[in-house]
Amino acid sequence: MCRHLGYLGPERSVADLVSRGENSLVHQSYAPRDMRGGGTINADGFGVGWWGADGFSRYRSAAPLWSDPVVRETLPNIRSRAVVAAARSATVGMPVQHTACAPFSDDTWAFSHNGVVRGWPESLAGLAAELPASDLLQLEAPTDSAALWLLLRRALGEQDPEKAMSSLVQSVVAAAPNSRLNLLLGNGTELWATTWHHSLSVLVDDERAIVMSEPYDDNPAWQSIPDRHFVSARPGHLIVTPLEMGAR
Ligand code: GLN
Repeated sequence: MCRHLGYLGPERSVADLVSRGENSLVHQSYAPRDMRGGGTINADGFGVGWWGADGFSRYRSAAPLWSDPVVRETLPNIRSRAVVAAARSATVGMPVQHTACAPFSDDTWAFSHNGVVRGWPESLAGLAAELPASDLLQLEAPTDSAALWLLLRRALGEQDPEKAMSSLVQSVVAAAPNSRLNLLLGNGTELWATTWHHSLSVLVDDERAIVMSEPYDDNPAWQSIPDRHFVSARPGHLIVTPLEMGAR
């Protein structure tokens, strides 16, 4: 399953954030430690996104994170206080292309998914039928994650992130049991995440908030998030609550 990272804190280069630690996101792209049976490596592209004075920008590539020269040649000069990044392991049957890589985005939102929607696309057809055709025409890639983003983006127009994300997990699990739904959402000032059959850790102190599929180092301050939980994080603030099914 893919690996993702959300960062809020003192200004850092994007290259530093994806490379720091002995188990950095770059390391997790070729030697992840906690895939829980969902794939072996995360070689099917990657994406990085950052918020700045002019809003949100991103770079996505179908190349492995460890081999794309942008990491050495460009990302050291892109600095931000708010970053998301993801390394992808394509689910069997889903295409390898840069538009299938997180972060998916719109306006100031950025989204990533670690996992799989079982039985996709048929299992998601009922939920997708509730979307306007104009939304469906904007599907960036024929993948479960791109479809989840359309559903979440629509819900964010009406609900706060906690409600929108927990309702989405509940609906998808009902339609596609045994799905793996670790979601990550950011808007540049806060990060929200779910755990649903996948690994997630957080490191939050007064200066920074980091949400990551696997810790990038052995700092004992990392907290492992239990399965089926919702996380809301920003510097100096961490809330972890159970994802209640049936509480839509
Ligand atoms: N199913 C998604 C994809 O193929 C996410 C993959 C993953 O988490 N390994 O893009």
